[in-house]
Amino acid sequence: MSRTDIKLNSLLIHGGIDGDEVTGAVNVPVYQTSTYKQDGLGKNRGWEYSRTGNPTRAALEKLIADLEKGQYGLAFASGLAAINTVLSLFKSGDKLVVSDNIYGGTFRILDNVFKNFNITYKIVNTSDLEAVENAIDDDVKAIYIETPANPLLTITDIEAVSKIAKKHGKLTIVDNTFLTPYLQRPLTLGADIVIHSGTKYLGGHSDTISGFVVVNDKTLADRLYYLQNAIGGVLAPWDSFLIIRGIKTLGVRMDRHVANAEKIARWLVQSGFVSKVYYPGLESDPGYEVQKKQADGAGAMISFVLNDKYDYKIFFENLNLITLAESLGGVESLVCHPATMTHAAIPADIRKEVGIVDELIRFSVGIEDVDDLIADLKQAIENSVKA
Ligand SMILES: *Cc1c(COP(=O)(O)O)cnc(C)c1O
Repeated sequence: MSRTDIKLNSLLIHGGIDGDEVTGAVNVPVYQTSTYKQDGLGKNRGWEYSRTGNPTRAALEKLIADLEKGQYGLAFASGLAAINTVLSLFKSGDKLVVSDNIYGGTFRILDNVFKNFNITYKIVNTSDLEAVENAIDDDVKAIYIETPANPLLTITDIEAVSKIAKKHGKLTIVDNTFLTPYLQRPLTLGADIVIHSGTKYLGGHSDTISGFVVVNDKTLADRLYYLQNAIGGVLAPWDSFLIIRGIKTLGVRMDRHVANAEKIARWLVQSGFVSKVYYPGLESDPGYEVQKKQADGAGAMISFVLNDKYDYKIFFENLNLITLAESLGGVESLVCHPATMTHAAIPADIRKEVGIVDELIRFSVGIEDVDDLIADLKQAIENSVKA
């Protein structure tokens, strides 16, 4: 049974396919099968082959669609498999307008894979609506945004960009990984396609790679399901089960993530340790008003730059509780160095141009006790004074 007449916090637990109708199991079973018995030629029970469709994956696909207030959901083996499939909607000669700070892997697939097929991109500061409007020409087929963007947490007005796109007959694609549907639902703001790396908050435990696409339009959905099956980057049944399990606690996790992040961002600002804090939940942040209008919280990603006095390389080595690692959105706090890690795929000159300086530190705030996190930051910074 599927229901959509319940609130988001209930949908997290009872959305999609709620349990197993046959046995009454309260959890969707892991249908670990590649194929399905056919009762006769052309007679099957709705399932033929697990690349095309699998009941565990289908339950999750329905769930993510319910959460994003969309009609159609698709689950992939990774966020990049999802992005690859969405980019495969386009043809040689097509162009995309892309936010100027995006996930490094998204830049890489645009620059080193799709560009080879003559599907090109134009990098624009999408917070600047005039710049978005000016970037549109006949070849542009879509506007691709991330908000908050990675790693500078810049905010793009989803509703305003969607309006511009619609006016010109273009698609709006939003990577919603950083906020999840718990905090932001781009389809309700006019976007056409929502993308996720489910590896991050949706799974939430840093144990499963996955990706999603959600749309409302039937024609677009049919094409995407066709591409999903044709390209084949689908999510496995066991991994689908793990993400369903992760999503059940998304609400309680996000509440804690955001509360911790707000406290840490404010602490950093007044600490005297940093020259810059990027967090759209701060009233002083340039994206604050738009962020507040379009989302139910600012998320739990913070970026900052230490004062000249401190050496960021030593800072990373000094951390005890907080882990230096790629990725984000898990229950544990992670820091990374965008210039050499997540955004290394972006050429140095472009990094510099958009403000991803070598000294930038990105912090995925976990759900540990916030006082412990602050204490760890404090000791790591205090002990990293330059020689
Ligand atoms: C991690 C991430 C991706 C890529 O997802 P994978 O699951 O690692 O393939 C895409 N977009 C954003 C914003 C991400 O953080």
